[in-house]
Amino acid sequence: MNDQHSIVIIGAGPAGIGLGVALQNYGINDFLILEKETIGHSFESWNPETHFISPSFTTNGFGAPDLNAITPDTSPAYSISSEHPSGKAYASYLRAVSKLSHLPVLQHTGVDRIFPVEDHFELILSSSQILEAQYVFVGIGDFSYPYRPDIPGNNYGIHYVDIQTYNRFSDQMQTVIGGNEAGFDVAINLAKRGIPTTIYTTESGLESKAADPSKRLSTFTIGRYLKYADLIHVESHKQLVAIKKKPTAFKLTFADSSTAISQTKPIFATGFAASQSPLVSSLFDIRANRPLLTAMDESTKSPNVFLIGPQVTHDDVVLCYIYKYRQRFAPLAEELLARLRMTINPQVTQQYKKANMFLDDFDDCDVNCQC
Ligand SMILES: Cc1cc2nc3c(=O)[nH]c(=O)nc-3n(C[C@H](O)[C@H](O)[C@H](O)COP(=O)(O)OP(=O)(O)OC[C@H]3O[C@@H](n4cnc5c(N)ncnc54)[C@H](O)[C@@H]3O)c2cc1C
Repeated sequence: MNDQHSIVIIGAGPAGIGLGVALQNYGINDFLILEKETIGHSFESWNPETHFISPSFTTNGFGAPDLNAITPDTSPAYSISSEHPSGKAYASYLRAVSKLSHLPVLQHTGVDRIFPVEDHFELILSSSQILEAQYVFVGIGDFSYPYRPDIPGNNYGIHYVDIQTYNRFSDQMQTVIGGNEAGFDVAINLAKRGIPTTIYTTESGLESKAADPSKRLSTFTIGRYLKYADLIHVESHKQLVAIKKKPTAFKLTFADSSTAISQTKPIFATGFAASQSPLVSSLFDIRANRPLLTAMDESTKSPNVFLIGPQVTHDDVVLCYIYKYRQRFAPLAEELLARLRMTINPQVTQQYKKANMFLDDFDDCDVNCQC
């Protein structure tokens, strides 16, 4: 491996692969994508019963690109024939995009640490090899960093990502903390097996009247929920503040001082926080679990380090879905071109704009960008 590169992208998920294709489209070729496992690893790790909630449809030709596509001219719906892809199917789409574009992806190559040295960075790989780069794009996602509420007794809960199979749950009433997509996904999968669940949540996507699909439960989930509504009980305005182990059960205490008994370990469907990653916490200033960024998604702490993917946040604009954060690939490629003193090909810009994959003004976002 050549150990000096102008640009290194860390992570071969949709963010890393999508940015890689955008760089190539603009004529930037001196980059490398480093992936600690294999392309699409987070999706490969999904529970087999988990599916995309945002629908894929072969609408690219009509100016409405597939919501889960990461380039203007590909579509998971087309390549994997699934409206709500499973994790494995979507990983195969990512591999296909990477192969089609001959992307320089090095798999099984994790980045452990990054140090600024004069005008470049040294990346310490898990193999202990050192690689140099001028620009670093961090696309490590958040799936590896499940968030458990910072409360006494949180070690008694299990996280959504830890559920390998729903077949091992007993028939007893199960308890889920968190009432958005993941919480309902757990409850629906348990209900399919006849197992009842109580969801405790501060607010529920089921009741939300927001237009934003990140706040309101997706139609895909509402449809599945309605089939099993009699087995899923939702308790809203319940903020869990402590879990206490009793001889045969767990006592849950909520912020309003009410309590509940759970016969089984509570399941946290409480999201993810990439700020727990040592790479992110060393390269970025963190506030409220979010890396702080300039308007160009660059670290406020480490110039020439950029964040890509669902943790990109600007005030209340959070680009948490693929159809949101894919809109940053082209503007970031253009920013690089400017720094590298290379010319921008307006036809490429046009291609991304035509596909609605170009967001350079967050004021244009309105409801579409919030999570
Ligand atoms: C259950 C579930 C359902 C979802 N449904 C949808 C949906 O319907 N629609 C939607 O738009 N989004 C959905 N999402 C969100 C979507 O999965 C994320 O937006 C997406 O995975 C983020 O892409 P990414 O490339 O940033 O990160 P990831 O896909 O997590 O990829 C990051 C990659 O980086 C690698 N990596 C990590 N650390 C290192 C390191 N130190 N060195 C090298 N490589 C590293 C990982 O192995 C991984 O392959 C869902 C998420 C979950 C968990």
